[in-house]
Amino acid sequence: MAWWRLRRRAVPEHSPSAAGTTGQETAQPYIREAEQRRLLRLLKRRAELAYDLEQSEQALQPVNRWTERLDELSAAIAQAEADLDALKPPPPRDLPPPLPPIPIEVISVSSGPPAQVEVRIDTETFAWREEVDWSERGHQLAPSRLLRHRGDPASVAPASLPEHLREPLIERLSASLDQLAEDLLGTVSAAEPLPSLTLADLARPCPSCGGWQDLRGRCPVCTGLAWRRQQLQADVRRLRKERDATLADLQRARDRLPVIRRQLAEVEADIAALRAKGVEPA
Ligand SMILES: [Zn+2]
Repeated sequence: MAWWRLRRRAVPEHSPSAAGTTGQETAQPYIREAEQRRLLRLLKRRAELAYDLEQSEQALQPVNRWTERLDELSAAIAQAEADLDALKPPPPRDLPPPLPPIPIEVISVSSGPPAQVEVRIDTETFAWREEVDWSERGHQLAPSRLLRHRGDPASVAPASLPEHLREPLIERLSASLDQLAEDLLGTVSAAEPLPSLTLADLARPCPSCGGWQDLRGRCPVCTGLAWRRQQLQADVRRLRKERDATLADLQRARDRLPVIRRQLAEVEADIAALRAKGVEPA
């Protein structure tokens, strides 16, 4: 039995307003209001279910918004995976020979101020001086920086090397020399013995890409590739996750169809019953 039939009998007995009156007529506006509210709720529910039904029916079409998104995601994953494959550095055909072990002679290291470093490799002298930032006006906040004011890294790069190897070598030597000057200053400040290094330590052939590693054994080409690979791998993980979620969403929308149809039929029946009694939204 529908709830309003029970209420119709129950309410007059317990309603204080109904006490001592004709009952049914006095209770009528109260029941009618409750029925109108119920009808409004049912109409809202029917609209929601109609939307869900449309979604579920769309999900069963061979092409729908889910399958379109899945296609886009699959294409994006394939592209990212192809990019990943392309990012593997080509195995070096022949590594350049290591640089000659010409000793790096430390001529002077002074912590200053201003700090100064001077070394000699073969016949070339390299010198650095601490850069004083005058804009700081005495209370220097920025860390001091050694600036090379003497020496050309190209002069210690073998002239026999082909240009495509020599150019990156000069770049790496330049970075390694500046790193060396900072290291030497740190070593002297910490009263540690000076390292015994040679030119070969400043740039070593990189076995992975055939380029050059710096004083710390880092290769900027390989580091850049590794960083880009990480980005792409993160992209692939994110895209796969979205694809799984979209697939699950599609399956859910398909599975719900019979449930939605049944719920909609029930709501329609309840609405029809209320309307048959003359209930209309306020
Ligand atoms: Zn490399």
